[in-house]
Amino acid sequence: MTRHDTDPTPTAWYDIRPDLPAPVPPMLHPGTKEPVTADDLAPLFPAELAAQELGGPREVDIPGAVLDLYRRFRPAPLVRAERLERALRTPARIYYKYEGGNPTGSHKLNTALAQAYYNKAAGVTGLVTETGAGQWGSALGLACSFLELDCEVFMVRVSYDQKPYRRALMETYGAAVHASPSELTAAGRAALAADPAATGSLGLAISEAVERVAAAGGRAKYALGSVLNHVLLHQTVIGQEALAQFARIGDYPDVVIGAAGGGSNFGGLAFPFLGEQLAGRRPVRAVAVEPASCPSLTRGRYDYDFGDSAGTTPLMKMHTLGHGFTPPAIHAGGLRYHGMSPIVSHLKELGLIEAVAVPQTACFEAGVAFARAEGVVPAPESTHAVRAAVDEALACRESGESKAIVFALSGHGHFDMQAYLDHFAGRLTD
Ligand SMILES: *Cc1c(COP(=O)(O)O)cnc(C)c1O
Repeated sequence: MTRHDTDPTPTAWYDIRPDLPAPVPPMLHPGTKEPVTADDLAPLFPAELAAQELGGPREVDIPGAVLDLYRRFRPAPLVRAERLERALRTPARIYYKYEGGNPTGSHKLNTALAQAYYNKAAGVTGLVTETGAGQWGSALGLACSFLELDCEVFMVRVSYDQKPYRRALMETYGAAVHASPSELTAAGRAALAADPAATGSLGLAISEAVERVAAAGGRAKYALGSVLNHVLLHQTVIGQEALAQFARIGDYPDVVIGAAGGGSNFGGLAFPFLGEQLAGRRPVRAVAVEPASCPSLTRGRYDYDFGDSAGTTPLMKMHTLGHGFTPPAIHAGGLRYHGMSPIVSHLKELGLIEAVAVPQTACFEAGVAFARAEGVVPAPESTHAVRAAVDEALACRESGESKAIVFALSGHGHFDMQAYLDHFAGRLTD
């Protein structure tokens, strides 16, 4: 599928790590506490993804087959939210980069396609993963269908119950979906023994997926939709496209905003702009927005922790609420994770990014205002970015400043309308 000549989809991903003033603390082996090697990662990931995880050059060429798949739905539009600006009576220029236009409705497909491609190229036959709200599971389900891989998904129980159509979408693409905690793994059985009504967590679903991969004896590998360095690398297509789009329209953002669960859509949009700043070209404020009920960046400690609740993954230095933390069952399932991307966490420590936490009801209010002005119903996760962008724009109304604000509209909320119904009925709490 070809797009027109002005196609700004980049042909390389951008790795911010070589540009940082201090190195990102390495991932550690849980047993030896030494930095992990490519060999340590080999049971979980194919060699190319392990190499990307450990880091290399600033630019990583996007394989042609992945570019072809990207071009089915990229470039993603950068839209000036003029009707929202008028509704807010703000002098600010508000833009959003809309990642909900692909068939699975969120930015997750950007990394799902890359991960499925590298696994297929390495001879892997199936991928096992977890999903919170279901966006990642749907994206990997479609990527596995395109690349002819088996796909197995452990879906956090609360979302499995709240969002049956997400499960239906994954099954439509051919994925096998289990509610987590499940009886299929020791980690799941232990959680069910402790609490038969356990609603689950991303951390626990990761434990189940990793355990399942170990049991598959090499045929299947593991895929993660956020947090990891290679995931954030793949998502930089978002920000690189946005840079090109801003250049074309002759504007540039003062503030870049993204909802942060594990940090991938925020990092994907913000890193290329931060790269411009680090190269001494244009300064930018980058703001990560998280839910007040799961505030890893704003309230968590910065320390080594496990990525999963059972404590089986490598240790990552990150802002964490502790791997035993089960976040409350808020509707933004994709933001219910105890940790944060090690790169995003490191940037926060370096003072290169800011973080704010916002309560769920204020997010839905902003999401509804956005939908009425612009038409797109944001995913509950994305409403966090909308809220912060609206607050920046309202501050501009007070100060009279005309800042340019861009936020990642990471996905649409068409599978999340129950959340909106609950909001309208006054059933959401903070
Ligand atoms: C998964 C998801 C998020 C949160 O994950 P990040 O890795 O922080 O981007 C945010 N928005 C949407 C629509 C998602 O699907």
